[in-house]
Amino acid sequence: MTSTSPTRGRAAGDSAGHALSAGVGSAGNGALDAAWVEHVAQAVVASPRGETAVTYAPATGRELARLPRSTAEDVAVAYDGARDVQRSWAQLPVSSRAAILLRFHDLVLDHLEDLLDLVQLETGKTRLNALEEVVHVASVARYYARTSERTLRSRRLVGFVPGLTQVTQVNHPKGVVGIVSPWNYPLSMGITDALPALVAGNAVVLRPDPQTPLTALAAVDLLHRAGLPPRVLQVVLGDGPDVGAAVLDAADHVCFTGSTATGRTVAVRAAERLVGASLELGGKNPMYVAADADVPRAVEGALRACFSSAGQLCVSVERLLLHETIADEFLAAFVPAVEGLRLGAGLHWDADMGSLVSKAQLDRVSAYVDDAVAAGARVLTGGTARPDVGPWFYAPTVLSDVGPSARLHREEVFGPVVAVSRVRSDAEAIAAANDTDFGLHASVWTRDHARGVAIASLLRAGSVDVDEGYAASFASAAAPMGGMKASGLGRRQGVEGLLRFTEPQTIAVQRLAGLGVPDGVAPQTFARVATGALRVMGRLGRA
Ligand code: NAD
Repeated sequence: MTSTSPTRGRAAGDSAGHALSAGVGSAGNGALDAAWVEHVAQAVVASPRGETAVTYAPATGRELARLPRSTAEDVAVAYDGARDVQRSWAQLPVSSRAAILLRFHDLVLDHLEDLLDLVQLETGKTRLNALEEVVHVASVARYYARTSERTLRSRRLVGFVPGLTQVTQVNHPKGVVGIVSPWNYPLSMGITDALPALVAGNAVVLRPDPQTPLTALAAVDLLHRAGLPPRVLQVVLGDGPDVGAAVLDAADHVCFTGSTATGRTVAVRAAERLVGASLELGGKNPMYVAADADVPRAVEGALRACFSSAGQLCVSVERLLLHETIADEFLAAFVPAVEGLRLGAGLHWDADMGSLVSKAQLDRVSAYVDDAVAAGARVLTGGTARPDVGPWFYAPTVLSDVGPSARLHREEVFGPVVAVSRVRSDAEAIAAANDTDFGLHASVWTRDHARGVAIASLLRAGSVDVDEGYAASFASAAAPMGGMKASGLGRRQGVEGLLRFTEPQTIAVQRLAGLGVPDGVAPQTFARVATGALRVMGRLGRA
């Protein structure tokens, strides 16, 4: 019998007494249900005699699972399969595809505890941070399930000659969408781009990050259980530069989430093939606490904005701009609160910040902080690894006096590190916030929400939260999310997040008479009548 739960001896939704509840250690010792791993691994397109790769639990550094590795040839097989079924998938009514998303929404919520376990095991994040991913996936699934039929519907447009030129816009799927997703939000980033691509009638070839494939495979399994036909969503596993690149190189639309450096190479390759690309890239996100902010509320918000998922979150705050009139009060509360954060990644709710995902991430974060300190930065708290908690933990870190010679002044750390500076006015804060190559996200704190919105509109960032760190915009599935400047191209979520996976086609029917010069009419007369008609339409206020 096929196992449907990743954890041994546990019914879906049963949070009490399951094999993993004793903590990550037991899971690291192999508490994942081997039959379940084998079952979800069947979705991976890879030769049965091919190579395998091991994944690790960051909280313990122990082996988690061994999974197949795909090759470039396997990617070609995945595309062949996806292309075989894409047309029949696209011919289903949107409502049938949307119904699958709605069933998936319910299954995700039914399997909350299993998914939380998996996300925690693969990333080392806290349970509350893992919950964000589950909530996000369910919200995005429900949003597209409920709205896609309306968004994708063919619509009549105003024709050139009203009444005679009948124009309809039809939204076709692009074909097969290639998705490369990162490790930091393996459930959320692993599946939320696939959902709108699928509901729009595309097939998908997905390459989840090799550090965190099980969570994505669990989501794919739930999609199949929700009714997704075989082969419409193909999964391959392997490293970015070979398997990831092969996935994007064969796609009719490229969907990439990762660093700006990799995003640039992905964009060049998509440009060479003249296919569309959605790129969700890095950030160096500022949070401005204005003079009239509710300081205790801003402190609580900053803790979540800077240290959720140990700062390995694209919309995480790395620059804290404090108005000079509240800076001392803010820091007097913030620094002890950071010191009081409970580190841990056990499968319970009692930790505030988890582990970094890998030794590579730990080395990267340590190098950035050491470089800043060598360049004169002051450590207000943190600044060291925490091997006493787990192999790849790093202390939540607050720096001040970070000068321009420190690399982290402008570069993204992607870890639990925030640099504090003081500003004298809103104008100075806006200039400082915009003084970056990136433009992903920003946060503004003020009791005056009209002022907050006015400041937000002057920030060059794809999303801005007022009186929240990032969760308000991120969790709003109807709202487009993405980056300005070097933070990316295109948007996920909202109408934009769906239409990027479509090719709009215009079908114009010219009734009664053609648009050429009628027989017996002089071209000059035709020109006078045609331009006169344009003038009339202008005066009538027509589009
Ligand atoms: P990375 O660019 O090194 O890798 C990202 C993903 O791309 C990985 O899964 C990797 O295997 C794959 N990859 C690497 N080279 C590739 C290639 N040539 N072709 C195709 N795929 C390739 O980034 P990282 O350090 O692993 O991830 C962290 C970065 O991702 C941060 O900069 C972060 O801001 C960004 N990120 C952005 C968002 C967003 O929504 N904007 C979300 C999560 C992460």
